Amino acid sequence: MTTVAAYAAPAAKAPLERTTIERRAVGESDVLIDIKFAGICHSDIHQAREGWGEAIFPMVPGHEIAGVVSEVGPGVTKFQVGDRVGVGCMVDSCRECENCLRGEEQYCLKGMVGTYNAVGKDGEPTYGGYSEKIVVDENYVVRIPDGLSLDVAAPLLCAGITTYSPLHHWNAGPGKKVAVVGLGGLGHMAVKIAHAMGAEVTVLSQSLRKKDDGLKLGADHYHATSDPKTLEELAGTFDLIVSTVSAPMDFGALLSLLKVDGALVNVGAPEEPIALNLFSVIGGRKTLAGSMIGGIRETQEMLDFCAEHGIGAEIELISAAEINEAYERVLASDVRYRFVIDTATI
Ligand SMILES: [Zn+2]
Ligand SMILES: [Zn+2]
Repeated sequence: MTTVAAYAAPAAKAPLERTTIERRAVGESDVLIDIKFAGICHSDIHQAREGWGEAIFPMVPGHEIAGVVSEVGPGVTKFQVGDRVGVGCMVDSCRECENCLRGEEQYCLKGMVGTYNAVGKDGEPTYGGYSEKIVVDENYVVRIPDGLSLDVAAPLLCAGITTYSPLHHWNAGPGKKVAVVGLGGLGHMAVKIAHAMGAEVTVLSQSLRKKDDGLKLGADHYHATSDPKTLEELAGTFDLIVSTVSAPMDFGALLSLLKVDGALVNVGAPEEPIALNLFSVIGGRKTLAGSMIGGIRETQEMLDFCAEHGIGAEIELISAAEINEAYERVLASDVRYRFVIDTATI
């Protein structure tokens, strides 16, 4: 066991504070990672405040982890000391079910083991990236290509893969019209990635407040959903809409913007169930779908793609002492576009 410094929420809704946690000894197939940067994901806040139900405390959030391997177990074959690596939302899964076997570990039938706020196979709670070091089985670690700086790579481990996976699955590319709903942490990554894939990209945002940013990030068009003309003008336009927002929305109106056979894929979800007239999918053979992060193999593919296209997240680098303030700013949508903690300040 190794004692490492971390930032933890001692109880639900309590501010995060500096503490120490124990990391397990490096096992046969484990790597020890010196964490350099950890992104702040909106879901960190949901979980630290028990917005998604009962959670495990103390909680060390963080599933956008970038760092450097500092020790490897005797059975490790994929990584060496000094390698630049990342860890995303999961650190284990059953490895035996049909979904694990085809590399979709995020949909493990027995449930993936979350990077934090979960219980590992050893029966101990998992602790996330707001800490100095983490020990992870090599099969749940990905390589960060040399072309990507670790700070802007960290958010790719959740925000990047969450948007890459549906864009890839639903074939965003040349000749395809893709709309991204919401221009926050997830949305700004969706715009960059869809643009790099060659799609014609439209941002649908509540207002035109971030229009200049959106166009700079790679969007071809930018519309305000608060303007009633937007719906009229864009009816039947898109092959794919990726919605990144978790606020309640008019899903029927969004579906009306799809072409025949188009898909509306949700990576954000409102807390309350929605009511939907099914004629909005029947007319036009449309798909209403969801998508959750991506498997380990696809996460590696996403990092390689981002390195090849020079894509990192737009970040505000903060010290650990600023985490609580950053949480408030995330809740107020006052971040462009991801906070990243410099873990050297823990
Ligand atoms: Zn996340
Ligand atoms: Zn499984």
